[in-house]
Amino acid sequence: MTLIIGLTGGIGSGKTTVAKLFKKLAVPIYFMDLEAKKLMQNSKIIKRKLIVKFGQEVYLNNKLNRSFLANIVFSDTEKLKHLESIVHPKVKQHFKRWVKKQNTPYVLQENAILFENGNSAFCDFIITVTAPLELKIDRVIKRDAISKKEVIARMNNQWTDEVKIKKSNFIIKNVDLEITKKEVLKIHKKILTYIKGAKNFLILC
Ligand code: ATP
Repeated sequence: MTLIIGLTGGIGSGKTTVAKLFKKLAVPIYFMDLEAKKLMQNSKIIKRKLIVKFGQEVYLNNKLNRSFLANIVFSDTEKLKHLESIVHPKVKQHFKRWVKKQNTPYVLQENAILFENGNSAFCDFIITVTAPLELKIDRVIKRDAISKKEVIARMNNQWTDEVKIKKSNFIIKNVDLEITKKEVLKIHKKILTYIKGAKNFLILC
């Protein structure tokens, strides 16, 4: 059995950076946002539903018009929820199939809204990545070349770190990358030890 570990954290916390560190340890990573985008581009059912809800402009020359969609949903929670209700069931199904194909002791699902979309419910453990608010804002402004106001608007669609931390098994304070690397290795070893222990327990039973 492959364990499912959820990896989450607010915008700019460094989830993707942390996920890449796990990847170096040969842990397969499912990047939820990336896979959702692929499905929004390729799934006929999703395409049809998005056009019905948001209009023909969602696709420009048959390509997902991401900025159009982002502008609509980031300022309207109801529309964001509707978008998620169209996309998430398909991604969930895709993820389950993907997990079945992996043959490692555990896999990671990197997902900014792991709690918000309910995927945390089927994770065996959850890792939350955190960083100070101003640092997160600075990182996103630099990475995406957007304004502070836009970053904050995106943050407001996500749960706070305080709430996520309470529901997590592991917390990574991602400020100094060298410390983060050590934390990742520590967590990796703990998970493997847990899995080994669980297997021994099953044998004894
Ligand atoms: P989002 O939810 O917006 O996708 P994220 O949580 O996945 O964000 P990353 O993309 O990993 O965050 O990191 C945001 C930016 O900060 C990136 O440009 C990344 O290179 C940088 N960054 C992340 N962690 C560190 C760190 N410890 N030291 C320096 N830069 C970092």
